[in-house]
Formats: sequence, C-alpha cells, structure tokens
Amino acid sequence: MNATSRAVAAYHGLAIGDALGATVEFMTPREIAAQFRIHDQIIGGGWLNLKPGQVTDDTTMALALGDSILAAGCVDAHAVATAFDAWMRAKPVDIGSTVRRGLLAFRKTGDPRMPRSEHDAGNGAAMRVLPVAFATLALPEADVRQACRTQAHVTHNNALSDAATETLALMLRDALLGADKLDLLHGRAHPLAQQHPEFAFRAVRQRMNPSGYIVETMQAVFQALFDTDSFEACLIDVVNRGGDADTTGAIAGMLAGALYGPAGIPRRWLLGLDARIRHACEAQARALMLLPSG
Ligand code: MG
Ligand code: MG
Repeated sequence: MNATSRAVAAYHGLAIGDALGATVEFMTPREIAAQFRIHDQIIGGGWLNLKPGQVTDDTTMALALGDSILAAGCVDAHAVATAFDAWMRAKPVDIGSTVRRGLLAFRKTGDPRMPRSEHDAGNGAAMRVLPVAFATLALPEADVRQACRTQAHVTHNNALSDAATETLALMLRDALLGADKLDLLHGRAHPLAQQHPEFAFRAVRQRMNPSGYIVETMQAVFQALFDTDSFEACLIDVVNRGGDADTTGAIAGMLAGALYGPAGIPRRWLLGLDARIRHACEAQARALMLLPSG
C-alpha cells in the first residue's frame, strides 16, 4: 500500500469520524446506549440537525487549511488565517469559540498569530492538522512541528494544544510511511505522555465522556486506537463515548485511516458521506501528496 492511498484513507477517515460522531456530540455514553444501543450508522441528526453524511467544522476547516497550503505552496500563517476567515464568512454549521475569537482578532489586527494562552487548550488546532502531515511528508521533523504551530497559532497558541497537534501530525506521517500501531504507541503516544503527563492514558477502555479539552480528546482517541484492531472498531469505540464525539471521531478516523488504509474503511460509511465532501477529501489528499515537500 503506498503513502497516497493511505493519505486518501486518512482524509476519508476524518470525514467519516466527523459525520458519524456528530450524531452523538454532547451526549453521554448512557444516553447513546439508551437511544441506539450502539451508534454505528451515518444518519445525521444530532444537536446540529445534520443531513445524513453531512460533516462539521472538523472536516471543512481541514479542507480550508489544505486549500491554503496548495495555493501558497507551503503552510503560511497569513494564507491560513485568510482561508479560515473566508471559511467563517461562509457560515459553517458549527464553529468553536477559540476559533471564532482568533479569526475575529485577525480581522481586526491583520496579525495571524494569537498570543500565548494558558486557557486555549481546546482541540480545534489538532482536529484540522491532517493536510499539514501530507504537505510536510518529505521535510525534517522540526519543520513538521513548525508547520503545525504555524497553522495552530492562528487560533490556538497553547503548549498542550501544540504538543498534541505536533504528535498527531507525526503519528500520521509515520502511519503514511508504513508504521504499525505499536510504532505509534511507543514512538509517539508514550513520549507525549512522558513530556506532558496530563496526556497519560490507560490502555484498557474507560467509560470516559471526552470534552473538547485537548487532553481528554487525545486520551479518548488513544484508548480507542490502541485498544482495537480495525478502523470500524476504533471509530465505534470512540464515538460511543459521546462528548466531543465529532472531533474524537475525526481524529481517530484520520489516524485509523492512515494506519489501516482504504481496505479498512467500511463501504457503508464511505458511501454514506456527502459525495461532494468525499470527492473533495480525495482530490485534496492527492494534490497535497504531489507538493515537492509532500
Ligand atoms: Mg465539529
Ligand atoms: Mg466537536
């Protein structure tokens, strides 16, 4: 399996996790079990009242970021902020409060970098990082980390958000290049928890209800990813925890897509996606992988 087919699967995984998880966003595991027993179909609905197959900000911000990288030829802070601003003007179905604050500040000042903040540790910078992993595939690790921070700091400038976003991009890069699950666990997830003990997670499944706090989001994603052996099982595990389920679904989906490749993605989910989104993800993944640095 080549890196480009894994990249397409990762992008489809992001969109599938977003569409699947959005149905149960902000619910508790108990509420989900009472309503669905197990939630495992792309049916829309949820608090955003989505159409079946519709995605949310997690996928559409990633597409906006990827388009800006393709236009600029690299991850450029001003180009990213301008693309996100255009995305916000187009009235997305949902938008995080930190993202909105950052983009309103950019409109006012023209500065695409938010100041360092201890409080902005939401998952909004991590959830959209996928195109950066493709665009920086051939670059040294330090350059990948820098590109992650450039896109992140347009809205989120926080040490925990940075650490998670960089780790996620490097896990995606490793998986595209053929790393297996244990490589990601020992090579990336454990080092993250060693550097920032907040991210420590138990290998066995806990009935946690992850919030939009980047630490809880990543703990839920790691538990689901490392405690299952397929794309389908990983996504069902993570979204049935509820909470910020579209975003845990999106992040788990990109990782599991990169790890298991296109053959791992259930057909009913791939075809259940909004067709325009499905095509946009595939086209953008292929274009980013053709960049000189990709
Ligand atoms: Mg969302
Ligand atoms: Mg969310």
